[in-house]
Amino acid sequence: MLSAFLMLKFVAKLYIMTKEYRNVEITIKWQAEKCKHAGVCVKMLPRVYNPKAAPWVAIENASTTELKVQISKCPSGALSFYENEAI
Ligand code: SF4
Repeated sequence: MLSAFLMLKFVAKLYIMTKEYRNVEITIKWQAEKCKHAGVCVKMLPRVYNPKAAPWVAIENASTTELKVQISKCPSGALSFYENEAI
């Protein structure tokens, strides 16, 4: 698991990568260069965060509340979210 994170971070650093993942209510922002690979996200919500998958975040696999709780536990601030604007 750790090696998958390290590979993801290595590739991300090459491109200074920020990715966004959106559901109806929120958009998760992942700033790869901040990620410390503690794996908190994977341990808390393994059905959402899978570094071996592409894309590695399956936002549809958890409720918005579950996602917000998990994001608040990200130790590096690599994960954040913003509320989507109503259309
Ligand atoms: S919890 Fe945050 S710092 Fe830890 S692996 Fe996930 S995104 Fe990276």
